[in-house]
Amino acid sequence: MPGKKLQFLVIHCTATPAGRNVSADEIRQWHLGPRPEADGVLYKGEKFSALSGLPPDKIGGVSVYKLKGRGWRQVGYSDMIHLDGRIENLVPYNADALVDAWEITNGVMGRSNNSVMRHVVYVGGMAADNSQPEDTRTPAQHVSLLAYVQQQIERVPDLLVAGHNQFDKKACPSFSVVQWALGRGIPAKNIYDKWPK
Ligand SMILES: [Zn+2]
Repeated sequence: MPGKKLQFLVIHCTATPAGRNVSADEIRQWHLGPRPEADGVLYKGEKFSALSGLPPDKIGGVSVYKLKGRGWRQVGYSDMIHLDGRIENLVPYNADALVDAWEITNGVMGRSNNSVMRHVVYVGGMAADNSQPEDTRTPAQHVSLLAYVQQQIERVPDLLVAGHNQFDKKACPSFSVVQWALGRGIPAKNIYDKWPK
């Protein structure tokens, strides 16, 4: 099945306290770990009647039996921007403007339009005491995020940059992507300015 054209670059935060590092393995454990449900457990997008029925997988070195996550088939983000500005690829993708099935990530829950989205996450997004959402981007993350967005637009010239909170009523990514992008010289035609109803 041919992929759909990439339309949105959606920015997220890990919703972790300022200054706390997050590893790719942690993201995998949070997203891919089995999710307990009333009548069983969801794992890799499939329903199992009991935890004991899961395959003997490990995620980040930890047995899935010991993990609690969202039960997704794939992690939610293609790339992650660490506190030091380093960009880590979580789910590979190629350079073309089509989102192939293997490139799809789950960033916006339950949205079929994940198939036209690419998701990038910066580490942080909560106050240091975890009490409330906060724009905790470090100077290095600011630099990396801008370069990342510019590079993605170079690849897909009509790409629309957005925040997760423009699709769901959430704080994520704890800042206004519209204001930030305008202030950093991202062309207005590449900034998605719609908000959830
Ligand atoms: Zn998000």
